[in-house]
Amino acid sequence: MSSISNFLEVFVARKWLAGPYISDAIRASERLNRKHVKALINYLGEEYHKKENVDDAVGQYLELVKEIRKKNINAEITIKPTQIGLLLGKRVFAANYGRILELARKNHVFVWFDMEESWSVTDTIRVFASEMGKGGTGLCIQTYLERSMGDVKALAKRNAIIRLVKGAHKVPERGGFKTREETTQNFLKVMEYMFRHCGEFTVGSHDSTIIDRALALNKKYKKHVTYAMLTGVRNDYAFELAKRGERVSIYVTYGQHWVAYTYRRLKEINNLKLIVRSIFGG
Ligand SMILES: Cc1cc2nc3c(=O)[nH]c(=O)nc-3n(C[C@H](O)[C@H](O)[C@H](O)COP(=O)(O)OP(=O)(O)OC[C@H]3O[C@@H](n4cnc5c(N)ncnc54)[C@H](O)[C@@H]3O)c2cc1C
Repeated sequence: MSSISNFLEVFVARKWLAGPYISDAIRASERLNRKHVKALINYLGEEYHKKENVDDAVGQYLELVKEIRKKNINAEITIKPTQIGLLLGKRVFAANYGRILELARKNHVFVWFDMEESWSVTDTIRVFASEMGKGGTGLCIQTYLERSMGDVKALAKRNAIIRLVKGAHKVPERGGFKTREETTQNFLKVMEYMFRHCGEFTVGSHDSTIIDRALALNKKYKKHVTYAMLTGVRNDYAFELAKRGERVSIYVTYGQHWVAYTYRRLKEINNLKLIVRSIFGG
């Protein structure tokens, strides 16, 4: 292993990831639950072109659902579409999603879709929409995409449960907001629409501008809002919100494929103060 990836693993990845195994994710979730925070568990890995990788990921999620129930953890699971077969075709993807959902519904474990690159959005929404009527599932919408307001309006009409985020992948040349400021303004617009038209949803952000606005809007609308953050970014603030009686969840990742995830988080934090605070702070 190169010294750079050694550094990443020791100082960065460990701050953001629970560890390689399901048992690590369960232990991390138990710690969060003790602070009245729900865990949002993701098994690392994405963009799988090989059936064996897809089968492994599906197997992990099935196992994870059973472990969550067995240990009685307050946790949901969140899956990347390309991890469970989107690149092998929509039918494989839909079948794997259906399989995980069936077991998850039986065990009362909520299943989310993460949202990935912009090319995957339409297919992800379509497959999600085929199952959402039966409940127990929600999906992520990214406000760096111009289409996000239209998607949210269409999904809200069908009572979909949405997790709103800015977006962590490559902003597409066409149909994407180029600056963080435009993305944030769009987030605020879409979120306001959700307060008016959705009963239950998640605000996935560490940005105080967004969280403060959501807290203020909820005084008026009194919706079932969850504030969700990533492990290791603003844990102390998440715990404080939970202590104040807000619904809070923290995204917990585990698995061996930590490199892509770690680089994505690093790319996002372009301010050194925030890197230091994120690595060594709470
Ligand atoms: C629960 C969850 C699930 C997600 N799921 C997805 C997904 O499925 N698909 C996807 O593309 N993306 C996902 N993301 C990532 C998301 O899209 C963003 O890339 C990520 O959350 C960073 O955006 P932000 O809104 O937190 O604010 P940023 O724009 O990164 O930061 C804005 C401001 O937040 C404040 N801030 C940030 N960190 C700190 C800190 N440590 N201390 C104090 N202030 C701080 C600062 O004021 C900063 O300027 C998810 C994020 C979360 C939280």
